[in-house]
Amino acid sequence: MGNAQGMENPAATLLLVEDDTVLREGLTELFTREGYRVIQAGSVREAREMRTDEVQAMVMDVGLPDGDGVSLCREWRGAGETRPVLFLTARGEEFDVVRGLDSGGNDYVTKPFRMQELLSRVRVMLRGIRPPQPAGRDGFTVDRERMQVLKDGEALPLTLTEYKILALLMDRRGVVPRERLLEVLWDEGGKFIDDNTLSVHMSRLREKVGADRIRTIRGVWYQWSDTSSAES
Ligand code: CA
Repeated sequence: MGNAQGMENPAATLLLVEDDTVLREGLTELFTREGYRVIQAGSVREAREMRTDEVQAMVMDVGLPDGDGVSLCREWRGAGETRPVLFLTARGEEFDVVRGLDSGGNDYVTKPFRMQELLSRVRVMLRGIRPPQPAGRDGFTVDRERMQVLKDGEALPLTLTEYKILALLMDRRGVVPRERLLEVLWDEGGKFIDDNTLSVHMSRLREKVGADRIRTIRGVWYQWSDTSSAES
C-alpha cells in the first residue's frame, strides 16, 4: 500500500508551448532532467501541429506571437480535448484568471516562477489523469462504478450531487471555477442547480470531508486538497 507514490507517470510527455526560446530551452532541460519527454512549440501554429496523441499534458504560454494560449485552450476544449493544460503567464500581462480557467485551463503559474513550483504543479496535474489508485495517500478514493467516495475504504454518506462535485474536484486537482461546477451539475444531472443551492451543497460537503479539504478562492474557484491543514 505504501509505495504507490513513486509510480506516477515515469515518462510523461509534455507539450511545451513557449515563444521565448531561452525560457523554452531552459524548461525543456529541466523537465527532461526530471524524466519527462518534451515536445516543443513556439507558436499557436506549432502547438496545433505538435498536439499529438503521445502528449499527456500541455504547459502553455499565454502570450504567443500568432495568438494566445487561452483562446487556443478554449478551441481545443470545444473540440473535446481533455488533457490538462497549465498556463504560463507573465506578470503585468493581462491574464484574466477567470477567463483562463473558464477556457478549460487546469492551472497557471505567473512568471517569474520558481522551477520547483512549476514542477510540483505539473506533477499535481498529471496525478489527476493517473489511472485510479486503490487508495489515495490521503485515504480518499473515488469509486466511479458505485458513484461513491471512500474515506479509508468506507463510503461517505453523500448525495448524488455531492458525489458529483467531489468527484470533479478530485479529478481536476487544479482549481475549478464555480461556473464549471454549475455547468457540470446541470449537464449531467438534468436538474437545475442555482448558485445558492451550490453553496448549500458545498457547505454540507465540507462538513462531511473536512472544511480544509476543499479550498476556496474568494468563493469563485474551488480546489481539492490532498492534505488537511492539520497534517501539513
Ligand atoms: Ca510569450
